[in-house]
Amino acid sequence: MSSESQTEKDVYSKYNLKKVINASGRMTILGVSTPRPEVVDTVSHGLNEYFEIKDLVDKTGQYIAKLLNVENAVVVSCASAGIAQAVAGLIIKDDHDLLFNLHSSDKYVPREIIVPKGHNVNFGAPIGTMVSLGGGIVVEAGYANECKPEHIESLINPDTAAILYVKSHHCVQKSMLSIAQAVCIAQKHKIPLIVDAAAEEDLQTYYQQGADLVIYSGAKAIEGPTSGLVVGRQQAVEWVKLQSQGIGRPMKVGKEGILGLTKAIELYITDKKTETGQQMVTKMTPFIENLNALDGISARVVWDGAGRDIARAEITFDASVIGKSAIEIVDLMKKGEIAVYFREYKANEGKVDVDVRSVTSAQLDIVYSKIKNIIQGIK
Ligand SMILES: *Cc1c(COP(=O)(O)O)cnc(C)c1O
Repeated sequence: MSSESQTEKDVYSKYNLKKVINASGRMTILGVSTPRPEVVDTVSHGLNEYFEIKDLVDKTGQYIAKLLNVENAVVVSCASAGIAQAVAGLIIKDDHDLLFNLHSSDKYVPREIIVPKGHNVNFGAPIGTMVSLGGGIVVEAGYANECKPEHIESLINPDTAAILYVKSHHCVQKSMLSIAQAVCIAQKHKIPLIVDAAAEEDLQTYYQQGADLVIYSGAKAIEGPTSGLVVGRQQAVEWVKLQSQGIGRPMKVGKEGILGLTKAIELYITDKKTETGQQMVTKMTPFIENLNALDGISARVVWDGAGRDIARAEITFDASVIGKSAIEIVDLMKKGEIAVYFREYKANEGKVDVDVRSVTSAQLDIVYSKIKNIIQGIK
């Protein structure tokens, strides 16, 4: 145990890596999350054993499906791989010729994937790239700031393979149809509905509302190893599983990821010891009070825009008082011995959000000192 933790500490010095305080949330560019020890043990156990992989995939899928009360489930390598394979599965179905020749075949099958325009986002990579990888063609519905059920409905035609709904804080939230409305159209026209819920916390609601395939990122809310989860209707998930013989191969998940995510899901739903939004508020309150005592800075609690139980500290920097813009401050926070990463989506408006889920109170003190030094011009 001690030699193990020694090795972990050593990677920073061994490879000369920068230390990070992650106040940005579940960010892929920072390593997403840190799984619980039980998950780490399961990963390590999995690495040391052999399995019939098909058996492992089927049985863990059944186990997860039972836990979540869904028809079927499969662990994949990440949510992006889940999107690509969901699209491929719904285009290819059981056609083995297409399975082996998805991109080169000119066989006619429906390939259009209707996506609300405000959902066609860049989550770190573009949604559209994942759809293309799965052999689909993106057809955008509605406008950047509006998508009504009829915008989707008017695009449905014999070439439509599926509707893709992206449930995410990355998306435009205003004037977008709801999942229930998307389900309604999908069912009326007998077209499958895929929901990308990569960073969402509820592993059941989108399936229960009637989505055919729902995709989650394994390392975000669930805090599993690098992996993804696809849950859904029996047949649709079987088509996703078939992709391991096609486009799924270069995105395969290992035995350790399959076992680790299965364990993480079990812990996530049975022993939800994740911090509540109210606990986050308690943790960040002294930090906010300290910041409000500084000239040119105001800080307050804001709640997650996508409706999740996450509270964050929003800091507004007054450039006319401080003499530095929020964008410059964001850059300076990443420099020095410890890099501090904020949610910087609103930096152009002079604001950043501090996500405290992966930050301790002691680290919040470091973040405060660093901000103070930067605005007071101390190196
Ligand atoms: C993070 C994210 C993804 C990608 O998840 P990975 O597991 O990193 O592939 C896809 N869609 C949305 C909306 C996301 O937030």
